[in-house]
Amino acid sequence: MQKATHQLTKQHNSRLILRMIYEQQDISRADIARETNLTRTTVSSIVADLMNEGLVLETGLGPSIGGKPPRLLRLAEDARQLLCLDLSASYFRGALINLRGEMSQRVDVAVDGRTAAAALALVHDLISQLLAQTTTPILGIGIGTPGLVDGACGIVLDAVNLGWHDLPLRSLLEEQYGLPVYVGNDSHVAALASYSFDPHDTDNLVLIKAGRGIGAGIVLNGQLFVGDGFGAGEIGHVTVVENGELCSCGNRGCLETVASIRGILQQMATQTGQPAPTWEEVLTAAQQGDSVAQAVLHQAGAHMGTAVAHLIGILNTRQIVIAGQMSRAGAPFMAGLHTAVNQRVLPAMAAGTQISYTTLGDDVVLMGASALVLKQQLGVI
Ligand SMILES: [Zn+2]
Repeated sequence: MQKATHQLTKQHNSRLILRMIYEQQDISRADIARETNLTRTTVSSIVADLMNEGLVLETGLGPSIGGKPPRLLRLAEDARQLLCLDLSASYFRGALINLRGEMSQRVDVAVDGRTAAAALALVHDLISQLLAQTTTPILGIGIGTPGLVDGACGIVLDAVNLGWHDLPLRSLLEEQYGLPVYVGNDSHVAALASYSFDPHDTDNLVLIKAGRGIGAGIVLNGQLFVGDGFGAGEIGHVTVVENGELCSCGNRGCLETVASIRGILQQMATQTGQPAPTWEEVLTAAQQGDSVAQAVLHQAGAHMGTAVAHLIGILNTRQIVIAGQMSRAGAPFMAGLHTAVNQRVLPAMAAGTQISYTTLGDDVVLMGASALVLKQQLGVI
């Protein structure tokens, strides 16, 4: 019992020290001891272990404050690679990522409507291709997938588009590859990515990932909030238009019918009387001043703002981040969003809320998958 407690304390201290080195870069053992309230001996012993594992390096000498100048420590960011997958788009995407979130190798495979076992075979294919390209040991596999995901057990409960129901993705992959595997909903891990890698100044954040579908991820007090049934942030099928278009879920006027890419393209077709354009064409037209494209994007932003207003009213998070393909929708969409929020939220709360596009582009889910592994395996995020 005592031994087990000692082991836990040591692991806790090791994570604490590694996180400090991860966050601060170039820090001395003495500074770590001062900031953690651990003894110099404990810090030196744990740092020696971390250096043996190759995770920490000595980089040089710091300024002397009387006596010998201290040796500075730094994370060995290329000591391990993370194998990350994004299964949320029409291409399954994979990448090898270092401990600082820098990508080295990428592989994309077209899904081409594959579901169930065929979609799972594609996941194996992607992992095998990436494993063949690794240059350092793999710390773990991180996966962002659409659908309801029990992250604690690594089970995809329900991913309609992929035809996965109660799929024990983690145990299947851990058995096959002998590596730790972490699985999360794509919008949830995207929120974790934004929290870990986008600039922000609070511990709370809502990320809305909008593209083919719409979903949100919620970070509260620095922790992902997934809800009692793992569906926190499923705002795509909240009604925003009374008696609106029929949605794939069977209800009418869902947010996805008016603020997803498909909804916007349909609206463009209705407004112009022409066949639906591509998303690229809508973006280009809006940038070139086309008033119909700008108005449609503005209206989609306003519908999104209706849903966002509820999130702000309930959670009062000051950071709202828009990600996914919609993060390229530019000024008209953002203006519509702001207008709707300002009309629907207590003015003081609306004024204190920052709504922005993610800086992580198309990589937001891959980065989130990497954050998931870093958080679980090293405790640094
Ligand atoms: Zn719906």
